[in-house]
Amino acid sequence: GPVFRNARLFPNNIAVRDRIAAYTYANIFMSANELSKEITGLLDGKTNQKVMFLCPNDVQYVITLWAIWMSGQIAIPVSPLHPKTLLLYYANDSSSKLLITIPEYSDLMHRVARNSSTLLHVLDDKLKLNCTLLQPIHKNDLEGGIDDDFYKKSDAMILYTSGTTANPKGVVLSYNNLTAQVSSLLDAWRWTSDDVILHALPLHHVHGIVNALLCPLYAGAKTMMLKKFNANSAWSYLLGVNAGPDDRRVTIFMGVPTMYSKLVEEYDRVFKQDPKMADYIKNNIHSKVRLMISGSAPLPLPLYERWLEITGHQLLERYGMTETGMTLSNLYDSRKPGFVGVPLRGVSARIVDMENADKEEALVECSNVEDTLVYSKNCQKDAQGQDPVGELQLKGPGIFSKYHERPETTKNSFTSDNYFKTGDVCQYSLDKKSFKILGRKSIDIIKTGGYKVSALEIEAALHGNAAIKDCSVIGVKDEQWGERVVAIVALVKNEIDNKRIEEELVQWSHTVLPKYAVPKEFRFVETIPKNAMGKVNKKELVQRAFGPR
Ligand code: ATP
Ligand code: MG
Repeated sequence: GPVFRNARLFPNNIAVRDRIAAYTYANIFMSANELSKEITGLLDGKTNQKVMFLCPNDVQYVITLWAIWMSGQIAIPVSPLHPKTLLLYYANDSSSKLLITIPEYSDLMHRVARNSSTLLHVLDDKLKLNCTLLQPIHKNDLEGGIDDDFYKKSDAMILYTSGTTANPKGVVLSYNNLTAQVSSLLDAWRWTSDDVILHALPLHHVHGIVNALLCPLYAGAKTMMLKKFNANSAWSYLLGVNAGPDDRRVTIFMGVPTMYSKLVEEYDRVFKQDPKMADYIKNNIHSKVRLMISGSAPLPLPLYERWLEITGHQLLERYGMTETGMTLSNLYDSRKPGFVGVPLRGVSARIVDMENADKEEALVECSNVEDTLVYSKNCQKDAQGQDPVGELQLKGPGIFSKYHERPETTKNSFTSDNYFKTGDVCQYSLDKKSFKILGRKSIDIIKTGGYKVSALEIEAALHGNAAIKDCSVIGVKDEQWGERVVAIVALVKNEIDNKRIEEELVQWSHTVLPKYAVPKEFRFVETIPKNAMGKVNKKELVQRAFGPR
């Protein structure tokens, strides 16, 4: 059922702590209940209306989300990071009937409301004040929402994809989808009500919403919300510097790879010089924080190793999508760097030959049935001794039913036996018994001189060069090669003689990559542009550097 129901299980636990105060589950429930009545009034008693909301990463976000659900509407979370044009796109595309925001963003949202002919409701600060009254509440006082039957068959939210391959698509997720996604994660990552998560992720994306917020809310845990990620304050929270005497320490952190690399940069800047400090940090983080997770973009191996050296933590990498929630995850007790793990409970994952994706004949198929992995196909290495490679397809109760108002795209995204075609290319390692992501079929698989090479694998190899700070590999249209492999590279130290360093890198690449995968060209940039989820928009990168593909 909807997560707000769980407030009755632990009404007096702290649910959220933001930079202003701490709020119990009961506090949030009661404020949300009040707001839900206002929403019902604004929408003339109707349910299943789309309500888009723009709230910062603090308690107001949770109250608003719960209120939208309690009044039986469909939530569309958007972010202060979005420019106005994108907010307008979301409002129109989602057919929102009502917009909700806080006073700080009311001018912006007035303009969005006017341009999309939508009703706007601006929250008042009373909402937050109600929340800080910390008197014990009995669970019987927490009545609200619609009947259970409604939630069993209704849609809960529309989340937009990141827009890496095309315009962002609205993904319709039901309450059943969300409950399934969360319940497999609660067990896989061993959530309890004693957990405290440091939350510094954007709240318009599955990573920040489902993994890092709905999971703790379902578990009765506490969420420490940072308004936005900042390496310096994240270190303080991880080390418990900001924790008062009665404040529990952070036990879980989730981030995108760029966050971990910023944390490492900050570590090098502030702590590294002092060996005593380094020891202190390692012991402190290792004993207090129990789990650190990475996802949304590939985690470079050197970063994984550096993080292990600094904190003693093996980052747990997992794989997911807006359309599916998390589907593959490394096991809690056995983490394999460079791999994204195995299906979470309820998920069936299969790899299908890229050229014959519609044949639906799996090269590997692995299902997690009640926490047991079942391989329904005897998979083998091919004649050349290669592990099976192909498109990853997924099935399970967490997977979305449709894109909002895109029937064609929806139809083309599912096979006739109802597997979702992820568009990601994946390899299953028979030795490691784990899945590896090779990248997107449409962007990261480069067809060069008759070979198909994975941009992600080339990037992983380049990351092994100590002179390279960051890189992104793309395929550029080429008369001779079909596509030629181009590496866009940010160096640790800017070189004056790019031609010389290019020659060196080409030479070095031959020692770590097969000949056909060695970049034909290196281009140097200050930084690789990434969005808030740590994703490189390669389409934009190619267009900017080389014109349309
Ligand atoms: P769009 O669908 O609009 O093009 P998008 O696919 O980037 O954008 P998301 O749903 O936010 O939107 O991202 C899902 C994608 O992120 C996956 O399909 C995969 O390519 C990538 N991804 C997620 N986790 C990982 C990971 N651990 N390693 C590599 N890639 C990952
Ligand atoms: Mg996608």
